[in-house]
Amino acid sequence: MREVAVIGAGVAGIQAALEIAGHGIPVHLIEREPTIGGHMAMLDKTFPTNDCSLCILSPKMAEVGRHPLIRLHTCTEVTAVKGKPGNYRLTLKRMPRYIDVEKCNGCGECELICPVEVYHGYDAGIGVRKAIYKPHPQAIPDLVVKDAAHCIECGLCYDICDLEAILKEEKEETLEIRVASVVIATGYGTFDARKKPALGYLTIPDVITSLEFERLINASGPTGGKVRRLSTGEVPRSVVFIQCVGSRDLTVDRPWCSSVCCMSAIKNAILLKEKHPATEVTICYQDIRAYGKGYEEYYVRAERTGVRFLRGLPGEVWADEHGPALQVENTETREVLILKPDLVVLSIGLEPAPGSEEIAERFGIPLEESGFLKPLDDKLGPILTERPGIYLAGTITAPRDIPDCVAQGEAAAMRAFTDAIREE
Ligand code: SF4
Ligand code: SF4
Repeated sequence: MREVAVIGAGVAGIQAALEIAGHGIPVHLIEREPTIGGHMAMLDKTFPTNDCSLCILSPKMAEVGRHPLIRLHTCTEVTAVKGKPGNYRLTLKRMPRYIDVEKCNGCGECELICPVEVYHGYDAGIGVRKAIYKPHPQAIPDLVVKDAAHCIECGLCYDICDLEAILKEEKEETLEIRVASVVIATGYGTFDARKKPALGYLTIPDVITSLEFERLINASGPTGGKVRRLSTGEVPRSVVFIQCVGSRDLTVDRPWCSSVCCMSAIKNAILLKEKHPATEVTICYQDIRAYGKGYEEYYVRAERTGVRFLRGLPGEVWADEHGPALQVENTETREVLILKPDLVVLSIGLEPAPGSEEIAERFGIPLEESGFLKPLDDKLGPILTERPGIYLAGTITAPRDIPDCVAQGEAAAMRAFTDAIREE
């Protein structure tokens, strides 16, 4: 039976893989990170329903992990593509995990004893991880990974692991797979707020990004869901969200709207008001783009919860004696205001994922001027490409929200499935 490859295991890739495998076609699900889940696994709740993000995603991740027709390749990248529609040959490079995956049972004893702490990408910089670690508690596969770049070879983890699952040496591996079709769903990257130095990210302690706020307010995050000022550990009395940081901004070459940050800020503002009703919450914006199903109602709900919407963006955040301060013109009233919140949240934009250029080159797909991959036609075939049998799903082509990513994952799956059952 012919097989299909899905590259990228965020929500779009997971949806595509489950759909294809659910119709009896074997799938190679290829993910460069040590776990599947993508950005959605980092989020606290989803808009406009405030459903817990992992409560939606985790069952899908678990199903991928146990599906007999899905072969999961984590820590793996596609390095070469050959062949033709109906018969593509992909070369995969698997980076070492330094773990015997047949032996490790994910108990986490090694992580507890490891003395090395480093920046944890999953917690977006708010928390730390060990040199041997499980990416997060719901990781699939349920295994640890050793970060050889930070391991000091103290030997403690080797001693504590009764199953002798930790490897001192492991080499990269290369393998080739043959597939009828490919779904590419490698997701997005996020704007580096340091490119807007006037906003004080990493120079003023209580200026954080929206992704960091997601981890801060998340019950399974490093603070157990307690929203606190990073400088003092106190509950913030006032929080200002600044929209469009790295979106709709020609000064940093990001002319596009990131599509989800208005709703994401509204969601976080509502959650914050529910947690701390006395905290003043302000969203500074250019336009509120509440275009999806239930989104306008969600915006109205935020207003009723007491969230202040202030039309205008500050050009600068500075530090005064109490913390961050900013000046903003209310473009509706022409009033110029000085705000002194305890916490500033920069709503960072979505941008092409690192490695998008290489993927485009390898598969022979053109890039948009923005750097996102270009589908054949946004209206006639948003998941089709110039190459038959190669499909695009999710935020690889543009910023989009979770329901759109899921819909595109399903659409691409249908196409890829049809190729796999077509007679050679
Ligand atoms: Fe447990 Fe050993 Fe796996 Fe660490 S490597 S999680 S100690 S089984
Ligand atoms: Fe951590 Fe490396 Fe020591 Fe293991 S050998 S406990 S990974 S520092």
